[in-house]
Amino acid sequence: MISKPHIVIFPFMAQGHTIPLLDLSKKLSSRSLKITIITTPSNSSSIRSYTSQYSNIHLREISFPRIHELPHGCENTSQLLSLDQLLLFLRATKKLQAPFEETLEDLSKHQDPPTCVISDSFLGWTNESCRAFGVSRLVFHGMGAFAMAVKKSLSINQNHKCVKSDTEPLDVKGVRLRFEVKKKDLPNSLRQMDSCLSQFFVEAEKSDLGSSGVIVNSFSELEKDHIASLESLYGNGTRAWCVGPLFLHDEMEGERTTQNGQTSLGKWASWLNQHEQENSVIYVAFGSQADLSESQLDELAYGLELSEMDYIWVVRSKSNWEPPSDIVSEGKKGLILKEWVEQKWVLAHRAVGGFLSHCGWNSVLESLSMGVPILAWPMQNEQHLNARFLVEEIKVGVQVPTVSREEGKVVRREVICEAVKELMGGGSGKRAREKAIELGKCAKRAVQVGGSSYKCMDELIHQLNHSE
Ligand code: UDP
Repeated sequence: MISKPHIVIFPFMAQGHTIPLLDLSKKLSSRSLKITIITTPSNSSSIRSYTSQYSNIHLREISFPRIHELPHGCENTSQLLSLDQLLLFLRATKKLQAPFEETLEDLSKHQDPPTCVISDSFLGWTNESCRAFGVSRLVFHGMGAFAMAVKKSLSINQNHKCVKSDTEPLDVKGVRLRFEVKKKDLPNSLRQMDSCLSQFFVEAEKSDLGSSGVIVNSFSELEKDHIASLESLYGNGTRAWCVGPLFLHDEMEGERTTQNGQTSLGKWASWLNQHEQENSVIYVAFGSQADLSESQLDELAYGLELSEMDYIWVVRSKSNWEPPSDIVSEGKKGLILKEWVEQKWVLAHRAVGGFLSHCGWNSVLESLSMGVPILAWPMQNEQHLNARFLVEEIKVGVQVPTVSREEGKVVRREVICEAVKELMGGGSGKRAREKAIELGKCAKRAVQVGGSSYKCMDELIHQLNHSE
């Protein structure tokens, strides 16, 4: 008997990496592929809340190793005390190799053997496991094609190593640049070349090259040239499957459920509904990882107030920061929240006309898909590359003139205020909004029947149906 194709999906334990792979899992399962998601016990309930309605999606738990230096029970990067613990966390995930292989073995023995593994690039060792089991592996990076191509080119050619200063332009071989990329735009894993973190990623990049394809959460109208660059950097005819924005494959008009499976959207929705004027509110959020200092949070609070713009701000902070006492956190002009909100629904609200964002790739895609221009305030990882791509290449944003990348420097309230005003009401903000609206239409078309990502998804599913 010919068994159904069985795809094993192994997301990295960080929201920004997991959510798009869950969207992909849903899409593949709705096209009759059997999916097994591998995760650790404490991540499984939130994954279940996304996937429980899909009978073709199964979950397998493997235990996260106990690492004494990490907070007790920490199995997701959002639980790290600070990003200084990231390397410890990454190293801990390498210890998942043995239980991962046991799971592959068990699935092969007792159920349908996996026909393909789709795993995160941070879990580079899965490539070796897949080779041992004779299963093909597709890699997922959670980044845009431009940032991926720059990273890949530099990690292959090492051209950044010959550049001394942070402001000297880099020779990024194989990538068509529309602006100069400088060392200061690179993620720390490339800037700090001899650090242990950098070595971890060099290793992951090496094993990544052995993948049989790469899943790209983007759409060809947004990053066409960079997708082609990425394919040639991988070489050997490796295909970049450009199937995004993945979250748009879900029925946007369908029932809106929150992360906990509840159907109500929470207080942000009723607050936004009171704002009838289109594009009158700026949404402020820096993803699931960012950890701004208390003094920066204070400056941001005052900067938003100074701008006199209505705002909704989702604060993530490792401290128990509270807004300064003269700022009303649930007023008519501003709503400050600390809980999880369904960001894509906030961005979809007609009152929201701008997004002050750290430029994490999921946030970028969600904002553009909703036609919302971005006020770019990149903080870490590949976010600086994303910000420059948004502002200088596709021109859908305005940059917050951040003083410096170095820690401890606070962006002052006056700077924030001017940047907010420019995005929401200035000439460059207006042009960015027009461009974002145009790209939002392209994004939606891309995932509809006949669109570029729809066709690519079809081809991917065809290939998955025929891989052994
Ligand atoms: N997110 C959300 N609500 C929150 C915080 C985050 O829905 O309160 C989602 C957001 O919509 C995006 C993801 O979490 O899909 C964050 O990913 P991104 O790449 O933007 O940033 P990261 O968290 O990886 O830095």
